Amino acid sequence: MIIGRGAGRSGRITLTIWGIIGLLLAVDFYGVKTGASRQQSVKGTVYTSVGETAHQRPVEKKTVALTFDDGPHPIYTPRLLEGLKERGVHVTFFLIGQNIDGNEDIILRMKEDGHLIGNHSQNHMQLTKEQTKEACDQINRTNDQIKNITGQIPEYVRPPFGSWSEELECLVPMKVVLWSVDPLDWKTQNKDRIVRHIVNHVEDGSIILLHDVYDASVEAALEVIDTLSLEGYNFVTVDELLIE
Ligand SMILES: [Zn+2]
Repeated sequence: MIIGRGAGRSGRITLTIWGIIGLLLAVDFYGVKTGASRQQSVKGTVYTSVGETAHQRPVEKKTVALTFDDGPHPIYTPRLLEGLKERGVHVTFFLIGQNIDGNEDIILRMKEDGHLIGNHSQNHMQLTKEQTKEACDQINRTNDQIKNITGQIPEYVRPPFGSWSEELECLVPMKVVLWSVDPLDWKTQNKDRIVRHIVNHVEDGSIILLHDVYDASVEAALEVIDTLSLEGYNFVTVDELLIE
């Protein structure tokens, strides 16, 4: 349009000055905006990366297996099962054959509740001190008893006193499960001491030895679950632990 041309030299200079001011303002505005958005994006990146890190490496996952030997017990085992169910926790039981008769319902409940059932011999004898045939008979008889109730033959054995030999393995193809944390619950029968020992010694992958034939052991186990759950521990049966 002609109007522009009519503005003359000074008009062009004025326009140019305003143009420069405008340009500076625009650059400044844009700069601030860019800076702000960069800052946001940096923040975003930080948050995102933290989020990703948290997602890829969640709060250290710790797993532990609670195991109970020498049962079932007609009073304490059902009490334990109740507490485990309330907490949604699965454990492993190693049963003594001579304690099975009359407690079939308890064993069925173990299975129905998702616990793992293993073998702890017929009468708690030290297997390595026996003739191999007698030792194997101890295990086979208990396996048969459990199978008659649950329909499944146990795959895992915990030898009494942790005493096992390769010779036994040849005759009885079972997986032997020992332990890494032993609070000597049968000896102290003191709930607080049992809990303290476990909490002080537990680590990722621990197998904890307890006995569901004592009141204090059952109470301690439930308290340990509540305490360690808050520390990020996840409770599994020994077969799950050995797979990981
Ligand atoms: Zn035992």
